Amino acid sequence: MGKNLIVKQKYANKFNSGYPLIFKDAILNLNEVSEEGTIVRLVNEKKQFLAKGYYGKQNKGFGWVLTRDEQEQFDRNFFIKKLSKAIQRRKALFDAPDTTAFRVFNGEGDGVGGVTIEYFDGYYLIHWYSQGIYTFKEVIIDSLKEIVEFKGIYQKKRFDTKGQYIEDDDFVTGERAPSPLIVKENGMNFAVYLNESAMVGVFLDQRDVRKTIRERYAQGKTVLNTFSYTGAFSVAAALGGASKTTSVDLANRSLPKTQEQFEINGIDVEKQDILVMDVFKYFKYAVKKEIKFDLVILDPPSFARSKKFVFSAEKDYKNLLKEAIAITEDNGVIVASTNASNFDMNKFKGFVKTSFKESGIDYQILEEFSLPEDFNTTNKFPEGDYLKVLFLKKRS
Ligand code: SAH
Repeated sequence: MGKNLIVKQKYANKFNSGYPLIFKDAILNLNEVSEEGTIVRLVNEKKQFLAKGYYGKQNKGFGWVLTRDEQEQFDRNFFIKKLSKAIQRRKALFDAPDTTAFRVFNGEGDGVGGVTIEYFDGYYLIHWYSQGIYTFKEVIIDSLKEIVEFKGIYQKKRFDTKGQYIEDDDFVTGERAPSPLIVKENGMNFAVYLNESAMVGVFLDQRDVRKTIRERYAQGKTVLNTFSYTGAFSVAAALGGASKTTSVDLANRSLPKTQEQFEINGIDVEKQDILVMDVFKYFKYAVKKEIKFDLVILDPPSFARSKKFVFSAEKDYKNLLKEAIAITEDNGVIVASTNASNFDMNKFKGFVKTSFKESGIDYQILEEFSLPEDFNTTNKFPEGDYLKVLFLKKRS
């Protein structure tokens, strides 16, 4: 059963060895499928079976391989098996009393590309990344309901053609979550809003980085947090004993959101700076005023359009880092982070090397992070391991 998609000979081995993403260049007859959620059989040019999955258009490709077993059906049993395994892997996090927010299911890393599930203190939040995977909505939600205890379930539809989040009531079933819902991460509080926008207020993939900043890099330091969003890194630094934090983000909403995150952690907001402005403008201001920081955090979006220009991490990270180097104290530390999936850690380290070299300054890599354990990835799909974080010491 299912529609045959013919894989070009040169890509047959790739799928044979487990590559999960169905991508345009690999398929000879992609134009023969258009219905989202169609079950597709990948076959080689001799029509021999390679793998089976579903068709679903998203920014990354045209669907995902779910099995290499020709007989396997994508039914309740299948999803219960995948979900149970994923939940079993996160047992330590479910049991951790001081952490109540983490990722439960990480798409292709847990065997089903196109969908992720996060846990927020008893509530489950599902992200659907294509209309195709959304056609499995009922069986996936029923499977989840069968194997977990939950207060409520929410969902985000992330498959608008322009890549925009589809505004909707995101509540699915159970009881509605308070707004905000206060969750914990290693004892730190975060206010999350499950029903406001695509992003709920905290990016769970930075948990280990926040912990490291709080425990080992913040005490007594002045901290600049750029692209600060709701100020999660600033909260970690303040709780870790920073003498002062400065958070800079272009979005108006970042100001009240950051204030709220400080308040629910018992931090005196008046002693922190929260600036709504362009980071690049702030760098110029700091240089002019000769302001320097002991710790500078850089976590830009991989791609952003502002009024004046388009920032892309691949093209602009080097310059961003040079600006940061200029306002970091000697022997200070820069936390350079990127979630761009179009380059890997080696290339990122190359950017770092160039930036310091062009600034005429020596550096040392102190720490290196990729995704935390709950963002389970597969070595069959290295692109899925997108997070790269380096702690860089500016040598004097
Ligand atoms: N570092 C944050 C997540 C950053 S999300 C965290 O750990 O929680 C990216 C943020 O960058 C968004 O809040 C967006 O408003 C902001 N942003 C994008 N371009 C910007 C610019 N040029 N100057 C300042 N902020 C910018």
